[in-house]
Amino acid sequence: MPGKRAVTTPPLRIALVGFGKIAHDQHMPAIAENPDCTLAAVVDPSATEDVGVPVFASLADLLASDCVVDAVAICTPPQVRRTLAQEAIAAGKHVLLEKPPCAVLSEVATLEEMAHESGVCLFAAWHSRFSAGVGPAKEWLAGREIRSVAIDWREDVRVWHPGQHWIWKAGGFGVFDPGINALSIATEILPRPLCVSGGLLQFPENCETPIAGSVTLEDSAGVPISLTLNFLQTGPQTWDITVETDGGRLVLSEGGSVLTTPEGTHRAPDREYAAIYARFAEVVSAGRSEVDVAPLRLVADAFMRCRFERVAPFHE
Ligand code: NAP
Repeated sequence: MPGKRAVTTPPLRIALVGFGKIAHDQHMPAIAENPDCTLAAVVDPSATEDVGVPVFASLADLLASDCVVDAVAICTPPQVRRTLAQEAIAAGKHVLLEKPPCAVLSEVATLEEMAHESGVCLFAAWHSRFSAGVGPAKEWLAGREIRSVAIDWREDVRVWHPGQHWIWKAGGFGVFDPGINALSIATEILPRPLCVSGGLLQFPENCETPIAGSVTLEDSAGVPISLTLNFLQTGPQTWDITVETDGGRLVLSEGGSVLTTPEGTHRAPDREYAAIYARFAEVVSAGRSEVDVAPLRLVADAFMRCRFERVAPFHE
């Protein structure tokens, strides 16, 4: 029997759980500018910064305190997400999950069931889907014949993820940490479901997750999709999706923020996290959950369907 939905009136009092790079750089400012949300607490065993709200070393400490929160935004590495989310749901809190929603699919299913039973909202945020070019790209592609798709996601892990050792541990995704963003966009803008058909993933000798990959996919109509991932890209960084259609070529570049079609190029400022909190507030006030596992399923399938190769060790 599903639980009664928790009634929450704005502003939503939110605790940021995991106060690392993304929570600090994006979540905190996005909460600050949204009148329907307010930052009520921070939870992180190593947080030292004074951010004007109570800081707790663990979620258990927050939940045992008299600090009142309606929701938690979980911004930790993926390996510890599920237990934290379960703790929050059991305490009747709404939950926003940073991407990827969990380390594996079964964990997401567990959380969905728990949230339903407990009457709280579970929101799996795919930030790249809120990038400025994604909605217009989806609209432009609708009704066109798609002939092929090339996804090229290459970045320098030393620049973007310094000191993030969790990325190289099982459940940390390796190069799929950025690569899943590309798949979150592809599964949003392409009209049909995608399947992984094969490929190669390269694992450094000293790491548990891949550093590069070349994955082939196709959609349900047989349209070929290539996914090239590399974590050792120096110089210009590449986050591009190129779609060949009967109406010409669409290129979504810079992670989804720049859209180029035969009609011209459109660029807009980054509002991804502002849009995430607007949606979270909306989802909570509507009393529903929003969880799409399609990008995570494709990553899981790539791990099951691709060949593995050991390559030179990685040292930061
Ligand atoms: P990060 O800088 O390593 O931050 C993670 C934080 O979580 C660290 O401060 C860590 O503390 C803390 N933490 C670990 N276990 C915890 C627990 N049980 N309770 C509370 N806090 C805990 O990583 P990040 O770059 O912010 O990434 C976090 C997540 O956001 C990842 O899933 C990533 O894919 C996603 N994301 C990152 C970016 C980006 O640009 N960085 C962009 C979008 C999404 P310790 O260091 O002490 O372990």
